[in-house]
Amino acid sequence: MMEITLSTQAEAVRPGKLICVGRNYALHAAEMKSQIPCSPILFLKPATALLASGGNVVLPPMTRDVHHEVELVVVIGKRGKNIPEAEALHYINGYAVGLDMTARDLQADAKEKGQPWSVAKGFDTFAPVGEVVPASAVKDPQTIHLDLTVNGARRQSGYTGDMIFPVSFLISYISSIFTLLPGDLVFTGTPEGVGPVFDGDVLEARGDGLSPLSVRVKRP
Ligand code: MG
Repeated sequence: MMEITLSTQAEAVRPGKLICVGRNYALHAAEMKSQIPCSPILFLKPATALLASGGNVVLPPMTRDVHHEVELVVVIGKRGKNIPEAEALHYINGYAVGLDMTARDLQADAKEKGQPWSVAKGFDTFAPVGEVVPASAVKDPQTIHLDLTVNGARRQSGYTGDMIFPVSFLISYISSIFTLLPGDLVFTGTPEGVGPVFDGDVLEARGDGLSPLSVRVKRP
């Protein structure tokens, strides 16, 4: 399973939990025909969904409509509970670009039935994450342009300054619910432009100052 190297620790850590934020950009909420949330929408992915750059996103037989969602990923560096917003950035060890792969058909079905998104979001390889850059290399997490190409064509282009809930608020809010531990990852939501991927597609995700992420889509 994928491990994460923290700049403060000698040994790589295995991420304990992946906390994901839904609908954190207004234009993505609009394309999903969903309302803008008044507090962050959270869901979890299992750590077994992680995939390093260079790997294959495997399309499960259970779905016919897997979408890409490019996101800024925050890596937690130290234990925290009830973190004040003003101190939140001190709990970040690094940043990466990630993909919140989503089985949109299963998610739509779950939404309709009032069921959780764990299946739609949690398959193995549904959480590709690029190499982590140290937090010190990113001056302000709200000034990063994110983009995603599929087979070289741009599909998503966003700016983290457009987040509805900024990173510091998210960390504070999340830590009021879950104790954050070193190696935990926060997927901070996707900008607009999500869309389906197909067998053989090459996805390349980039963010200012972040290490690029490249994965290939495979249907077994
Ligand atoms: Mg997402």
